[in-house]
Amino acid sequence: MKFTKLRLTGFKSFVEPSEFLIEPGLTGVVGPNGCGKSNLVEALRWVMGENSYKNMRASGMDDVIFSGSGQRPARNTAEVGLFIDNGERRAPAAFNDADELQVSRRIEREQGSVYRINGKEARARDVQLLFADASTGARSPAMVGQGRIGELIQAKPQARRQLLEEAAGISGLHSRRHEAELR
Ligand code: ATP
Ligand code: MG
Repeated sequence: MKFTKLRLTGFKSFVEPSEFLIEPGLTGVVGPNGCGKSNLVEALRWVMGENSYKNMRASGMDDVIFSGSGQRPARNTAEVGLFIDNGERRAPAAFNDADELQVSRRIEREQGSVYRINGKEARARDVQLLFADASTGARSPAMVGQGRIGELIQAKPQARRQLLEEAAGISGLHSRRHEAELR
């Protein structure tokens, strides 16, 4: 799965609709302190289904919504869209007919978030599984956050195994089995 574009509207410091094209090869994000580099990475994690506001450096999920600055009033909604090239047909069967996948998450103050996959409303679980199957996702080892290396070194065997399973792309299977066992 190749990410091609990230679109942010009202997300943290990105109040106006902002699009970031992700070209083939290595992409670097540079800029002065506080310009929003980490916010951009958080937007990526958020749209992939991050459900812990603490992992978003927030004290509630509504904190990801632009909270106002100077003359700009606060917003009531935030939306992040992630565009994925599916030319190689690597998406899970349910979405695999499309050349491009568009995953979006929109939050409204005090109303929680709604996810969509190619315009169709989806559960957070569907979005999380979509990325888990492709060995990526909000908590995947593909996203190395600050302090994560130290965490890995000190992790208990169970937690380390989870990381290895995510890296091997089988964590999606695991959670499906777990769900099946609960039924
Ligand atoms: P550094 O180089 O220091 O790591 P950075 O480029 O990663 O900086 P971020 O941490 O992404 O910067 O952005 C921080 C900025 O985002 C701060 O100015 C903060 O006020 C702003 N910000 C965060 N959440 C919101 C919000 N909900 N509404 C408005 N602005 C916000
Ligand atoms: Mg930063």
